[in-house]
Amino acid sequence: MKTDYLIVGAGFFGAVMAERISRVLKKKVLILEKRPHIGGNCYSERDQQTGIEFHKYGTHIFHTNSKKVYDYLGQFTEFNSYYHQVLTTHQGKVYQMPINLETINSFYEVNLKPFEVEDFLKKEKAKETYDNPKNLEEKAISLVGRPLYEAFIKGYTKKQWQKDPKDLPASIINRLPIRSNYDESYFNNGRYQGIPLEGYTAIFEKMLDHPLIEVRNNSDYFALREQIEVKEKTIYSGPLDRYFNYKLGRLEWRSVRFEKKIEAYPDYQGTSVMNYADVEEPFTRIHEPRHLHPERSYPKEQTLLFYEYSQENPEEPYYPVGTEKNHELKKAYQELAQKEDNVLFGGRLGTYAYYDMDQVIGQALAAFESL
Ligand SMILES: Cc1cc2nc3c(=O)[nH]c(=O)nc-3n(C[C@H](O)[C@H](O)[C@H](O)COP(=O)(O)OP(=O)(O)OC[C@H]3O[C@@H](n4cnc5c(N)ncnc54)[C@H](O)[C@@H]3O)c2cc1C
Repeated sequence: MKTDYLIVGAGFFGAVMAERISRVLKKKVLILEKRPHIGGNCYSERDQQTGIEFHKYGTHIFHTNSKKVYDYLGQFTEFNSYYHQVLTTHQGKVYQMPINLETINSFYEVNLKPFEVEDFLKKEKAKETYDNPKNLEEKAISLVGRPLYEAFIKGYTKKQWQKDPKDLPASIINRLPIRSNYDESYFNNGRYQGIPLEGYTAIFEKMLDHPLIEVRNNSDYFALREQIEVKEKTIYSGPLDRYFNYKLGRLEWRSVRFEKKIEAYPDYQGTSVMNYADVEEPFTRIHEPRHLHPERSYPKEQTLLFYEYSQENPEEPYYPVGTEKNHELKKAYQELAQKEDNVLFGGRLGTYAYYDMDQVIGQALAAFESL
């Protein structure tokens, strides 16, 4: 097999590179994708039973402040008016997330004004201080005080990491955003925000619909690479450590799994994502994807839910683990990557970093420009 460019992975990094290379450089692109579908972690499909579109790898909301990225994606989709807000259930009561004035007032049963929040929290934090927090628990308490930590961070973190926060490094969190107003928008960079009108997969279908692009699903790069002659470059968006056959050790990932349920209600929880802060509920979140498309008229007799659980599964990497050890290992792998001739590493797996979609698209557009 011969190609000008070989792209590993049909997520946003691979798809943007393929789209640009085929349309602008007019070069041949072969994409190998291990999974049976394109779209990477942003893949969406319609549930057979309910007709509700869902995001197989967790709810994805597009949001960006970058006009460049928004305009680029605008060639392939329009967005609906969905605006993301997150709620969390603690002891049977629903609160707004990230912690804002409504959360604080409702939790402490007070009626603070924005200018009173700082002093109020200062007093809460002064009750238990840590100059040199040794673990995540101490760090979180020093940032928000024990009551808010116990209610909204302790149980959730324990479920997320399957470890007691006392056994997690303080470095996992740098800051915990607390808003002293009633702002309930989830994203800081939400100037352009929404869900693609036809879902995410339709974007990828349009991006990759070009005579110079060939996509092979169910195709693992490592099983096929010897058979492919690449004239220009390989663009690799698979896991960084896997490329080097884990020779320096494995980078750790946190993973999640989803359990599907169908309930006979027109609306189960009134929002797309509800967090569950307490350890009594073993899941971290419930996703209800019908809320992602308020413009669609979905059937009212049933609704689709996904219960999210954390799990260890190195084969399904979701979130990089921000420990010192992983940071050092990533640096060592990056040094090896720089020495690889004609291979460009990118995307969330290829750079071992958590990136939102807009960041990955921006990264791919910049990488293309540098080609
Ligand atoms: C649970 C969750 C929720 C998220 N929610 C949001 C959100 O709301 N908003 C937002 O902006 N971002 C969100 N993100 C981030 C978003 O998923 C990423 O920014 C995006 O998927 C990154 O694209 P990518 O191309 O780098 O990686 P991916 O989408 O993971 O694509 C990489 C592809 O490479 C393939 N691959 C790997 N190894 C091989 C191999 N050996 N051979 C062939 N193919 C291979 C993989 O199968 C995969 O399809 C979320 C991420 C997670 C984990």
